[in-house]
Amino acid sequence: MWLRARVVWPVSCAPISDGAVCIEGNSITAVERWSDVSISGSAATDLGEVILMPGLVNAHCHFDYTDFAGRISPAASFAQWIRHIVALKADFDDAAHWQSWLRGAAQCLAHGMTTVANIETRRECLPGLWQQTPLRLRPFIEMILLRADSDADAALSEILRWTNQNPLPRGDRLGLSPHAPYTAKPDLLRRCAARLADGLPMAMHLAESAEEDDMFRNARGPLYEMLADAGREMSDCGLGSAVLHADRCGILNRGLIAVHCNYVDAADIDLLAKRGVHVAHCPRSHSYFGHRPFPLDAMAKAGVNVCLGTDSLATVRGGARVELDMFAEMRQFQRAHPETAPTAIVHMATLNAARALSLQGCVGELAPQSWADLIALPFAGPLASAPDAVLCHAGPVRAVMLNGQWIWPSPSSAPVHAG
Ligand SMILES: [Zn+2]
Repeated sequence: MWLRARVVWPVSCAPISDGAVCIEGNSITAVERWSDVSISGSAATDLGEVILMPGLVNAHCHFDYTDFAGRISPAASFAQWIRHIVALKADFDDAAHWQSWLRGAAQCLAHGMTTVANIETRRECLPGLWQQTPLRLRPFIEMILLRADSDADAALSEILRWTNQNPLPRGDRLGLSPHAPYTAKPDLLRRCAARLADGLPMAMHLAESAEEDDMFRNARGPLYEMLADAGREMSDCGLGSAVLHADRCGILNRGLIAVHCNYVDAADIDLLAKRGVHVAHCPRSHSYFGHRPFPLDAMAKAGVNVCLGTDSLATVRGGARVELDMFAEMRQFQRAHPETAPTAIVHMATLNAARALSLQGCVGELAPQSWADLIALPFAGPLASAPDAVLCHAGPVRAVMLNGQWIWPSPSSAPVHAG
């Protein structure tokens, strides 16, 4: 099957004017100029005035907090924000969780994401939820274990037993997410590190807030006090940065996505680069909390792979009507880093995120052998403005193909223009 479009942007190379993509089964077999394709026009589906590009890859998300949009005003303290979200979660039953999760997955699809790394908090709901979305998923099962008297070995063994008994549909791969170094005690991080070294993918929030930084570097502050009151053993604080703490626990590894990394110094960045850790930056969440500027240049210079995530709608300004939207994340990133070229920003939401999920060559680009996950955006401008047009795109995408099937707007409405 050939698809023709005004612009085909493989992302791994420059946009092609009047381009064509050949799909066989669930894979791409060729990406060409239409003039180089030796078939008759009637044998292709002409999508017309669109940019055809790879589906976006979201490196960090929480579907289950989608219905928390607009529920927590930006708090003066990160510890206070945690108290708010814990209270909201306490009122959330399985039915509410299910609904919020599915709404989040649907928003991601409508906004052109085809692969999502999602943090999962209720694993008993997952087998049912996984069947309800066509998205490619990389679920990370969240672990929170902070009390000194908790049994890390038993908790980890139980989760690993569950993951072995509950394989994902379509061969997607499960991972683990020790929540953060302040909520996952060192004993748990060391045990997770051993599994990470064996190839189990992991994601962890790291160096997100000034309060986390103060807790690990100086053994003080609102987060330190809140966690000490909650029964956490705090003797691992006052010994250096959160990144240094994570490294002492052995969890910095090329299989880890470290989420946020807002409060890192030059030595931390060198360590992240040396260990091959991928960093997921969430621009709207960063703006919501008013963190200090994200150290993009230093990370780029050190060679850290930086990708983008949406985080959850509990940390996006704009009230109850905001949606999980990678285009909005890219625009927010551009506002904060206007010197970054649009193409480089799109790379963070495609190629770099694919690399972080060990899916390079499979998703995040249109290339022979990659999976047929594509999106189409309305576009009638000149070729050179295609990357800018991608960043400017607002609202649902025109169409989404996932695994070789048109699944958006709906399975029966393949975007057909006479070829
Ligand atoms: Zn998060």
